[in-house]
Amino acid sequence: MPMGKIGETTLQIDLTALEHNYNYLRSKIAPNTKFLAVVKAFAYGSDMVTIAQKMEQLGVDYLAVAYAKEGSLLRDAGIKTPILVLHPLPSNFDEIIDRCLEPSLYSKKILAEFLEVAKAKHQKAYPVHIKFNTGLNRLGFNESDVDFVAEQLKDKKEIKVASVFSHLAASEDLEEKPFSLNQINTFKRISANFTEKLGYAPMRHTLNTSGILNYPEAQFEMVRSGIGLYGYGNNATIDAQLRPVASLKTIISQIHHIGVNETVGYNRAFTSESPRKTATLPLGHADGIGRQYGNGKASVLIHGKKAPIIGNVCMDMIMVDVTGIDCEEGDEALVFGQKKSAENFAARANTISYEILTAISQRVKREVIGK
Ligand SMILES: *Cc1c(COP(=O)(O)O)cnc(C)c1O
Repeated sequence: MPMGKIGETTLQIDLTALEHNYNYLRSKIAPNTKFLAVVKAFAYGSDMVTIAQKMEQLGVDYLAVAYAKEGSLLRDAGIKTPILVLHPLPSNFDEIIDRCLEPSLYSKKILAEFLEVAKAKHQKAYPVHIKFNTGLNRLGFNESDVDFVAEQLKDKKEIKVASVFSHLAASEDLEEKPFSLNQINTFKRISANFTEKLGYAPMRHTLNTSGILNYPEAQFEMVRSGIGLYGYGNNATIDAQLRPVASLKTIISQIHHIGVNETVGYNRAFTSESPRKTATLPLGHADGIGRQYGNGKASVLIHGKKAPIIGNVCMDMIMVDVTGIDCEEGDEALVFGQKKSAENFAARANTISYEILTAISQRVKREVIGK
């Protein structure tokens, strides 16, 4: 295979882009603010271990995953950085302690059960993170639980509160600024009250990527970024400053020349109104390109030209219209990435960068560049 050429559908992961995005986000916060890199869901569909290793090398203070088993995969790979588990379940508590993962404790049931396990496993000052709900209404204690939680934790030797945190519901939407500011104020009040009752001061954090960009005054002691590290900022101006880490590329398997009134693909969903040149590409809905991208909704780039997906997306293939594009079998096609935004691709199916990035299945080869 010649240098830089791909031989099959490949998600290229560019670590120089990751470093650029990290430096950009860091430039938006104070030098002493801690940085947590969110690497859940295979680092937003890329390559969790590679991204975590690079973030560790760049000196981030924390990593976060959604579930305990994601954290265990990082420990298996030798990652030493503290790992916050955002959504632990009681069945994970043994694993969490055995693998030195730090749970978010978000409900009375979770708190009581984790305390029990920490006690049974003879822990001392095991680091935990207390999550408060300030309006997202997803996970977290409510403000009315502050006294209860502080009381439960005050003299417990088994665990120690490393941080208190919350999550914004609409940090990217400036029309929701009053709501976000209200969440931030609620968090300030809760964390001050909680800290006082607890008798010591854990770190505080509430900003995700768009929070860092829109509410830097609320960075407290740490920020948590996911999507921005991967090159997307929920805003075109920000996107222009960031560099997509993941580029999904494929190659033309076969070219067909079809006449007028022929159909392409399952259910004969595309009918040619004029003679067409079509290219079949080796990726489909099993690779993460859902059926909602078919029938002209989204396109790929071949030699810099747009080739729309025609007909229905198959499990393992899509067909694109390459009429008028000088291309042949074996040529490369770019689905999204550097020079073709995943945010725009996702918008063609009324969704967001987060969804298309995390949808790219484990069947797709990962290739790391810019090491
Ligand atoms: C996923 C997640 C983040 C990261 O959000 P981005 O918008 O990707 O920066 C931060 N905090 C929590 C609690 C999350 O679940």
